[in-house]
Amino acid sequence: MIESCDVLVIGAGPAGLAAARAAAAHGVEVVLVDMQARAGGQVWRHDVRKPERSPARQRFAQLRALPNLRWLGQAQVVAASPGEVLLEEAGLARRMRFGALVLATGARELLLPFPGWTLPGVTGAGGLQALAKQGWPIAGKRVLIAGSGPLLLAAAATARAHGAEVLGIYEQAPPAQLARFAARLWRWPAKLAQAVALRARLAAVPYRGGSWIRAAHGDECVREVELETPAGRRRVAVDQLAVGYGLVPNTELATQLGCALDHATAHACVRVDANLATSVAGIFAAGEACGIGGVDCARIEGAMAGHAAAGALDAARALRPQRRRARAFAELLPRHFALCQAVRDAATPRTLVCRCEDVSLAQLDVHRDWRAAKLATRCGMGSCQGRICGAALAELRGFVATASPLASTPAALAHSARPPVFPTRLASLAGLSYPPAASVQESGSQT
Ligand SMILES: Cc1cc2nc3c(=O)[nH]c(=O)nc-3n(C[C@H](O)[C@H](O)[C@H](O)COP(=O)(O)OP(=O)(O)OC[C@H]3O[C@@H](n4cnc5c(N)ncnc54)[C@H](O)[C@@H]3O)c2cc1C
Repeated sequence: MIESCDVLVIGAGPAGLAAARAAAAHGVEVVLVDMQARAGGQVWRHDVRKPERSPARQRFAQLRALPNLRWLGQAQVVAASPGEVLLEEAGLARRMRFGALVLATGARELLLPFPGWTLPGVTGAGGLQALAKQGWPIAGKRVLIAGSGPLLLAAAATARAHGAEVLGIYEQAPPAQLARFAARLWRWPAKLAQAVALRARLAAVPYRGGSWIRAAHGDECVREVELETPAGRRRVAVDQLAVGYGLVPNTELATQLGCALDHATAHACVRVDANLATSVAGIFAAGEACGIGGVDCARIEGAMAGHAAAGALDAARALRPQRRRARAFAELLPRHFALCQAVRDAATPRTLVCRCEDVSLAQLDVHRDWRAAKLATRCGMGSCQGRICGAALAELRGFVATASPLASTPAALAHSARPPVFPTRLASLAGLSYPPAASVQESGSQT
């Protein structure tokens, strides 16, 4: 069965919720899709122990009351072509045609390999947050948090709120850099207030700059962490280690749709114009997918993209000054939390980079690019589909993971990101029209 809507919004995080609300305000038929059972995305992820506190709850309740908005939860978009997507919901495939599309697909954590990073008990910093909110027990556990960026503080606060003993937060950026970042926050009073409040909640937790993880040791799970700090090397006994080195925009669907990406940094983001339009007509993007900017930026961009997708360009334009301000804050992050070479050098030749297919750094180092490495080692061909190891190799060796080196045109790029975006049932794929429906119809060979 093929369904249709005027505006399809993929992702129900802060950006997607704002986009759906803005588009629906103009009376068009909106469908909001997310692979999670509940709306909220990463930052407003539902917390099973404190459900009443979710900031997404009220926003979502208002949206559900709108007669022209349909919510599809636990529905994963596995493939997209201009004008149509393929969803998998409760094991069933659905095809959805759209007039306009807003990609609010967010970001994932950047995990960099080091000896012992695949031990049970080692997770991402945001990963630990997500696990705790989903009910995984961390009360009383000794947790060490490391990596880089403001997410470390948020993860530590969540771990403490769930009863963990947070032993320390180890940030790789040098202390002088952190001081410079803090000194610039006065221009964004809300961010400053948020940072002060977080630090106050974590007053008893040491926060050390210029420190990174060398290795994790253990047997059936992590037992000890080896840290490099300005005061020298340390070993700390832990029950849990959470390490995240920032975020990577989720661009797979955008790539599949042929949208141009911005490759200014190691991790590409979706290129958008001042109204959040991508390079493909009728497709807009908002939030972390267009570059890491945080929750406030995601909300503003979501609203802009929603208005624009519904054809209300004046309403979108009115939000441009707010967006500029939010993006100016976002620009501080890569400058002040740039990764030091020592973090990249933590992986040894024997360290696994692709943990789905068990491929070590030594096995990858004989190849000159991602495509050659993938063909010879199956790196990136496991269940994460290169989301973890591809991003790590982009940092470690400058390999571009989403596109083949031969893919220089939008069409070739789209082809290099073949469906499915996530592991999918064969029965669902059988319902997929690929190559894109439009070109198949043109050639008159649709079956
Ligand atoms: C693990 C993690 C934890 C974080 N924790 C915090 C925090 O505590 N505080 C903070 O300020 N910031 C946090 N962030 C940063 C956060 O990304 C942003 O602040 C904010 O959530 C961005 O909003 P967004 O709407 O752009 O993306 P997101 O909130 O990431 O929302 C994107 C949504 O798209 C959905 N989606 C993606 N692809 C598909 C698909 N193919 N089919 C269906 N649905 C799809 C996802 O399920 C998700 O719900 C975290 C980020 C990560 C990765």
